[in-house]
Parts: sequence; C-alpha cells; structure tokens
Amino acid sequence: MKKALAILPLVLSMSVLANDPVWDGNTVELASEKLSEHAYAIYPTNAKELEKKGLPVATSGGFIVGEKGVLMIDTMLNKRLNAQAQDLIKLATDKPIVYAVNTSFHGDHSYGNMYLPEDTKIIQHENTKNYIDSHFEGDVKFMMQNFGEGRGIEDIKPTMADILVAKGSKVLVDLGGVTAELLDFGFAQTGGDLFVWEPESKTMWTGNPILTIAPAVPWLLDGHLLETLETLTKVYDFLPEDAKVVPGHGSVIGRDDVKWSLDYLTAVKTQVQAAIDEGLTVEQTVERVKLPEFSGYALYGWVHPSLNVPAAYKDLKGK
Ligand SMILES: [Zn+2]
Repeated sequence: MKKALAILPLVLSMSVLANDPVWDGNTVELASEKLSEHAYAIYPTNAKELEKKGLPVATSGGFIVGEKGVLMIDTMLNKRLNAQAQDLIKLATDKPIVYAVNTSFHGDHSYGNMYLPEDTKIIQHENTKNYIDSHFEGDVKFMMQNFGEGRGIEDIKPTMADILVAKGSKVLVDLGGVTAELLDFGFAQTGGDLFVWEPESKTMWTGNPILTIAPAVPWLLDGHLLETLETLTKVYDFLPEDAKVVPGHGSVIGRDDVKWSLDYLTAVKTQVQAAIDEGLTVEQTVERVKLPEFSGYALYGWVHPSLNVPAAYKDLKGK
C-alpha cells in the first residue's frame, strides 16, 4: 500500500491539470473584508462566484491589526499575490507587518515569505519548517507542475522561520490591544497545520484543511483520514456558534459550513470501513464508494477516487 501514496503527487499533476493550472497566479485578484476592529480576511474577488459552483478558488488569508503592528496570515503563492496582500494591509493600516504566519508549508500559503519586509518575523509549525528544510526543491517542482510555469514559482527561495510553534502547542501573539492565538489541533492536512484564532472577533483562519463551503471537500494529500477527522472535529467543537471562519480557499464562512467537510470525511470513513470489512481490494473500494451526494465539487472526479478513498483505505486497513 505504500506505493499508492507515493504516486499521489504524480496523479495530482497528471489528472487535475492536464495543461491548465488549478487557478492562475498571474490573474487572481485579491480583496480584503473587514471583520472587526482588528480582524480582516483576504480572499480572491471571484471567490463567492466560484465557490458556490464548486469551482476551485485561489488562496485566502488575512491579517490582524494591533497597536504594535500587524500579523499577516499566509503569504500567498508568488511575488504578485504577496504584493497585493501587502497593499491591502497598507490600505487598512499604516502599522508595520511585525509577524507573518504560514498555516502550512504549501507554497500558495508560504512562498510569499521571501517578499515580506526584512523585519517581519515568520512563524511556522516546527513540522512545516522541517518539511521545507528537507523537501523544498521537490515541493517547488510539484507546485510548478500544478500551478504552471511563468507564475513566479521559479523565483522562490526557502525563507527560514524566526519563531516555531512546537507540536501540540499554542502560541499567543500580543499585537497590542489584541492577541492572536496560533493553535495546533493535530494533523489536519500536512502535520504542520496551524489555525489562527482571534478571540475578540471570534474569527478563525484555517488554511487548507477547510477549503471553503459545500460542495468543496478536503484533500487528503498526505493521507491520515482518521487523524484529519479527529482534528477537524476538535476545530468544529472549539468554534462558537457565531464564529467567523476564513477558510483556505474561499470567502468568509460560518461554523455550520465547516460541518460539510466533517460529514464528507465521516461518510468516507464509514463506507470505506464497510468495504474493508467485506474484504474488498482498494480498487473495488474505489469502485464502490462513490458518495454522489458530495460530488458537486469540480475536482471531485479526481480528489475523491484518486486521493481520498485510497488514503482512507490505507489508513483504515493499517489501524
Ligand atoms: Zn492552499
């Protein structure tokens, strides 16, 4: 079963894309939305239109403004998008970007680090730093396959983190009059996943583990169905009823919208387990577990049978 996961990046590059990138880092336009006195979301101007049709949306992020300065959440794919995000911050405040946090190592959330002001302190989960230290070259190749050449990915150099969040821990960032909480709820997509919580406005930034509203479903790129489900359940339980959630790839959503991703992963778990109990092979399980009620997502025809079901099968079989 090891083989099945080893070929996943190749599967992604061949089947999702054919020739076109999932979204184009040369054309995406970002906008910000003020959520409270201190909290802002950043997401693509076409997010609301695309997400309700189940079409992929470029990266979302945001920032928190305090008296001492700004915490930027995710630094985007390339120079162009990072500059747009920095311009949106400048429109909202003249305070400097004191910190920037990456919700994961994924390039669309971290490649912009190198374009930040020199004084900005970069914060990452320790596993994200470890991944970048050991996989950077391969990661850039993978990102170029999936997001295209000529999108500025060629220029990216790894940027060292200044502050690391240890596994299972929580870091409080005092921005002056407002505190950001950087939380590790467990393995969510990469094992180096950080969630950002601003308690006063009850806003959470999730990064990739929650992509956007239905019908988009999570991508188990690194496997671990059971841990992902456990982690996202913790996140859901953590959120108050009236929380605002800035997902990894969409506009601002609510706690109820997060439930969709949980329901999908729960359905995958139940049905794949049933197939294993009947003695089905992974191919037979993919054939059996189609879950048409979740199939409205444009990338479902790849992400469900080629990625999520095999990942669930391996995880459940191995437990
Ligand atoms: Zn992403």
